[in-house]
Amino acid sequence: MEDQKIEKLVIIGSGPAGLTAAIYAARGGLNPLIIAGREAGGQLMLTTDVDDFPGFPDGIQGPILMTNIRNQAIRFDTRFVEEDVRSVDFKNQPFTITTESKEFKTETVIIATGASAKWIGLESEWKLIGKGVSACAVCDGLFFKEKDVIVVGGGDTAMREAQHLSKVCKSVTVIHRRDAFRAQVALVELLKTKDNVKFLFDSALTEVLGEAKVTGVKVKNVKSNEITEMPIDGVFVAIGHKPNTDFMKDQIELDHAGYVVFHDEVKTSVDGIFVAGDVADHKYRQASTAAGMGTKAALEVEEYLENIKLEHKTA
Ligand code: NAP
Repeated sequence: MEDQKIEKLVIIGSGPAGLTAAIYAARGGLNPLIIAGREAGGQLMLTTDVDDFPGFPDGIQGPILMTNIRNQAIRFDTRFVEEDVRSVDFKNQPFTITTESKEFKTETVIIATGASAKWIGLESEWKLIGKGVSACAVCDGLFFKEKDVIVVGGGDTAMREAQHLSKVCKSVTVIHRRDAFRAQVALVELLKTKDNVKFLFDSALTEVLGEAKVTGVKVKNVKSNEITEMPIDGVFVAIGHKPNTDFMKDQIELDHAGYVVFHDEVKTSVDGIFVAGDVADHKYRQASTAAGMGTKAALEVEEYLENIKLEHKTA
C-alpha cells in the first residue's frame, strides 16, 4: 500500500486568519493545504461594506475582500479542500485531520476556525443580515451615522457595542430580556452617562421589519406580553460569540467558553499546533487583527519546522 502523504502544514479555516497564514506559509515554501469548510470565508462573507480593512480607501464588499485574499493565497500554490473537519487527532505525531470524505496527516496545524456571532434565530433577522442587521458595531457602526439603532443583549459585548454606536448614532436603545445586566457595572455606568442611550429591560426582539433594509422592529415586553413596534434603522445583535472548536474539545486546551488557550502570541497547548484569529481572540475580533495573527502563526510554523530539521541533522 502506498504511504499516506504527510503535509508540512494544514490550516483549518478560511477567514482572514487562515488565508493570511496561507499566503505567508506558501511564500515560505510550505505548500499549505487549507481545509476551508463548506461555508468558506468566515464572518466577512456575511458583511456588505468593509471600510476598516487597510488598503481600500473606498471600502470593499466583505465577500469580494475574502475572494481577493483567497486568490492571493492560490497565486502562491495554496491548495483547498472545501469540506468541514469532522474530527482531529492532535495527540499523536503526525497529526490527523479527518474531513467528511478524507483523512490528512500533517506535521503542523494552524487552527483558524473563527468564532460565529450568536444570532437570536428569527427568520426576519437572518433575511436582513448585512442590510441593517449586524453583529459588529466597529465594522458597521458608521453606516448608521446620525441614525437610530438598537443593541440586543445584556453582557459586556452589548455594552461595548452600544458605547461605540453612541459616538456615531443619533440614538441607541439597548434591549435586554431581563431586568438586570450581566455586564460589568463600570461599562453600564459609563453608558448611563450618554444622553443618546436608552435602556429597555424585560424586552425581547420578536421581529425585524423591512424588505430591502431594516425599517423597524417589534419588541415584546416579556412580563406583560405587550408587543410594541419601533421604527429603527439598525439592529445590532450582541448576545455573544461561539468559537468553532467543538470538533477539538478533548484534543487541545480550551478555556471555559471554548476559545483556544494560547501563549507566546500563537502557540497552543500542543507543540506543532498554532492558532490564529477569533477562535482564540474574544477581545479584538477584527479582520485585520486576525490577519496579523495568521501572519505570526505562519512564521512560527516555519521556525518550528526549521528547528525540527536541525534537530534531525544533529541527532
Ligand atoms: P455574555 O456575557 O454571554 O452575554 C450575552 C448576553 O446576551 C446576556 O446578557 C444574555 O442574556 C443575552 N442573550 C443571550 N442569548 C440571548 C437571546 N437568544 N436573546 C436575547 N438575549 C440573549 O456574552 P458577551 O457579552 O459576548 O461576553 C462574552 C465574554 O467576553 C464575557 O466573559 C465578557 O466579559 C467578555 N468580554 C469582555 C469585554 C470587555 O470589554 N472586557 C468585551 C466583550 C466581551 P442573560 O443575561 O439573560 O443571559
